[in-house]
Amino acid sequence: MSTTTVEVLVIGGGATGAAALYDLARRGVRALLVEQHDLSTGTSGRYHGLLHSGGRYVVSDPATAKECIDENRVLRRIAPFAIEDTGGLFVATPDDPADFVPKWVAGCAHAGIPIERLTAEQVRAAEPALTPRITAAYRIPDASCDSFDLIHAFVEAARHLGSDAWTYQRVTRLLVEGGAVVGAELEDTRTGAQRTVHAACVLNAAGPWAGVVAHQAGLDVQIKLNRGTMVAMNTRYIHTIVNRLRPPSDGDIFVPVGTVCVLGTTSIDTEDPADIHIELWEVSKMLAEAEPVIPGIREGRALRAWAGVRPLYVPPEDRGQEAANDHEVSRQFAVIDHAKRDNLRGLITVVGGKLTTCRLMAEHAVDVVLQQLGKTIPCTTADEPLPVEEPRRYHELPHRLHKLEHGERGGQLICECEIVSRPQLEAAIEAYGDQPVALDDLRRDLRLGMGPCQAGFCGYRAAGILQQQRGDPDGIGTRALADFVEERFRGVYPLLWGHQLRQFYLDELIYRRVLGLDALIQPLNAEEQADAG
Ligand SMILES: Cc1cc2nc3c(=O)[nH]c(=O)nc-3n(C[C@H](O)[C@H](O)[C@H](O)COP(=O)(O)OP(=O)(O)OC[C@H]3O[C@@H](n4cnc5c(N)ncnc54)[C@H](O)[C@@H]3O)c2cc1C
Repeated sequence: MSTTTVEVLVIGGGATGAAALYDLARRGVRALLVEQHDLSTGTSGRYHGLLHSGGRYVVSDPATAKECIDENRVLRRIAPFAIEDTGGLFVATPDDPADFVPKWVAGCAHAGIPIERLTAEQVRAAEPALTPRITAAYRIPDASCDSFDLIHAFVEAARHLGSDAWTYQRVTRLLVEGGAVVGAELEDTRTGAQRTVHAACVLNAAGPWAGVVAHQAGLDVQIKLNRGTMVAMNTRYIHTIVNRLRPPSDGDIFVPVGTVCVLGTTSIDTEDPADIHIELWEVSKMLAEAEPVIPGIREGRALRAWAGVRPLYVPPEDRGQEAANDHEVSRQFAVIDHAKRDNLRGLITVVGGKLTTCRLMAEHAVDVVLQQLGKTIPCTTADEPLPVEEPRRYHELPHRLHKLEHGERGGQLICECEIVSRPQLEAAIEAYGDQPVALDDLRRDLRLGMGPCQAGFCGYRAAGILQQQRGDPDGIGTRALADFVEERFRGVYPLLWGHQLRQFYLDELIYRRVLGLDALIQPLNAEEQADAG
């Protein structure tokens, strides 16, 4: 078993862990981040994509609203490459409680969130797809934020400063010696190989799994796990983020991200941090709630549905109290110094918050880490833009098309929907060196398979190229294809009507009937072969 020693071990490759790795590196502390899957595969890769202005929380959770507007300004400054400045609108319809509007306006003033009242005509001119039945509308500084871009930028910047991040490494045991956490045992989630990491301090940024990780040291960290579903429609409909001007509830946010419009979300308590299943009523509800705001959207083409689990922190004093609804549970974050709370040195947990507040969460958590290390070095992550050499701008299809038309991205097209060419794919596979690579990793790198056909045509092409490049000792191409197709299909199953049903039927014909993918993974026995002719 190999052993590595670092000053700080960060557990979790979501927005919080990545921001903490960067913060530590800027303060001169070399750290190692470990993530059980790929970066941003937890909640940070399963969210709306909304850089909150704080408007959503001004009435129910004013402290979070203030944090959101402050961090909204900071992230715009340090990570402009990850943000599309769509602006935001809060709109009320005759179905929404009129007495909420003055409370909301006062809340915005209190939190320092700038708003501008618009007339119905101004709203219609700006967003013609919105209903004419709008009774109040305000402009607000929301934006959309690409978490893949943001998290990769934090990690790359930390690597340039001498820190590192290992993916597909799960912490299976925290090492406790003499009243302190002194490191962790890791398991490679692809090969099963074990390693040990010794560290002077461990930062638990495991999001919905933070309670599970703390439990490995015998500690109790209570997290309220709450699942939400989102649906991506195949066109933007609107170019500004639209929120319903009413108390937070199901289906009241519409986010234009890249080429799609994301509808969200629901709020269902769960016990399992990995619970990302979707119930059909959730999809119906998203569409039913969207229809009065964007008439006709229900008849549109829904591309994909996905779910994420909110890691909400309920402070001890609030436990046992029921919130009016789960959307109103506080989004405030907590940094738990286990030396003070549990008399166990070397472990700090950071949990709760929003993706929008990840940098601030990291700042507070790293302050406590440094206290435990006996150092006082100020945080500088809000001071300068993240050093990004070539922003990847995952979602910018026009940018990709422009490059293709001007010969900068030549070669055969592998994914027509997202404009991914063969040389690009080959370079992305090459970048993994001798590490295992899944088609889903390449999806996150290149957006492969994320368009309307959901990998119907690019999946088998990419699997063939992967197999050619890597050789095929263990059926790598077939296995990669089967896993990828299964994952793509999972997000389409709840949307089987209209165009997406036709598309799904075609994809099934390609993979199951023409390519016989099921039989390739599990070869038919003699009897089945005879049946199949
Ligand atoms: C439906 C929904 C919509 C949302 N919309 C928004 C929004 O629009 N705007 C916004 O600002 N926020 C939004 N949020 C909240 C936001 O997404 C989360 O607060 C944020 O992403 C949490 O980030 P994190 O890094 O703390 O957790 P995560 O992103 O979950 O990261 C934790 C990581 O730890 C890893 N991990 C766990 N256990 C281990 C282990 N033992 N070893 C190694 N690694 C481990 C996990 O794999 C995971 O990748 C939304 C949340 C949900 C659920």
